[in-house]
Amino acid sequence: MQPILQRTDKGFYCPPGDFYIDPYKPVDRAIITHAHADHARSGHRHYLTAADGFALLKHRMLASAQITPLPYAQSTNYHGVRISLHPAGHVLGSAQVRIEHKGQIAVITGDYKVEPDQTCAPFEPLNCHLIVSESTFALPIYQWQPQSILFDQINRWWATNQDQGLASVLMAYSLGKAQRLLAGIDPTIGPIYCHSAIEPINQIYRDSGIDLPQTLRATDPQRARSLVLAPPSALASPWMSRFRPFSTAFASGWMAVRSKRNRPSVDTGFVLSDHADWNGLISSIKASGAQEVWLTHGYSTALARYLREIGLDAKSVDTRFRDESSSAGHDPAGNPPDSIIPELKPAGEQ
Ligand SMILES: [Zn+2]
Ligand SMILES: [Zn+2]
Repeated sequence: MQPILQRTDKGFYCPPGDFYIDPYKPVDRAIITHAHADHARSGHRHYLTAADGFALLKHRMLASAQITPLPYAQSTNYHGVRISLHPAGHVLGSAQVRIEHKGQIAVITGDYKVEPDQTCAPFEPLNCHLIVSESTFALPIYQWQPQSILFDQINRWWATNQDQGLASVLMAYSLGKAQRLLAGIDPTIGPIYCHSAIEPINQIYRDSGIDLPQTLRATDPQRARSLVLAPPSALASPWMSRFRPFSTAFASGWMAVRSKRNRPSVDTGFVLSDHADWNGLISSIKASGAQEVWLTHGYSTALARYLREIGLDAKSVDTRFRDESSSAGHDPAGNPPDSIIPELKPAGEQ
């Protein structure tokens, strides 16, 4: 019998359905879990993605891309394989892919988090036989604090900077993290500016009905009291100079283990991630009821070892064969531990 899912040199492939999930190389049929660059690549003949993420994917792909939206929980059929998409709680429109064929069910989570996020639908637990889970932050040292604490810290940092006559420059991924920050901070503290890489994505979120505070163009004069949201790649750019003097911070799960050697050139770090932490990964995998677990991204080996100890058939699925030039952002697959802040590299911004 054909396996329901296979790892190939183009990415995860469903042989009976003849489609790929987040493929690395051009294919005929691609199901895209979300619009981050390390999952959504251009060049596929046909794309299927969650309806909530359709506008984001369209924004990131060429105008000619053939993209079919599929509402969460509705199903479609490729060669007798039933496909449905379910919220992953990672960014707007992020989806887990559930595939079912001859009684076998596999779920490919894509990136996910279990903590609620007011800018996207909450992660939906799914039952399956095989789960392919990301494992970006799969070490016991990664345990996220409740986001309310993080947003309090950020608000306080902003207010303190104001007292010192500084603007507050907060670095974050332009897709997802920036909007989650906007939705969570206290907009009454002062004016908010967004970099041009972030503002069009804010607009897509707003158009999708997500409530974000007002953001200003960088020509406005109230800069001294402002919060400035920018992608990490903007840190060294001339665009930043207009906000001087300022204090900088970076909001990322990687800030949890910032060592001196890896310290990015920012003044402060906030540990806010759009990925599941160690406990979130384990509880989600257990709740799926899957006996077979494939792990991708990050610290997959450590998590596979733990899951095997509790009786699951778990393995790390090597993704290092991927095209380095298009790999992006959070994914430290294959990265040695000393490059724990890959997203500070401009080329890797997702
Ligand atoms: Zn992602
Ligand atoms: Zn990813």
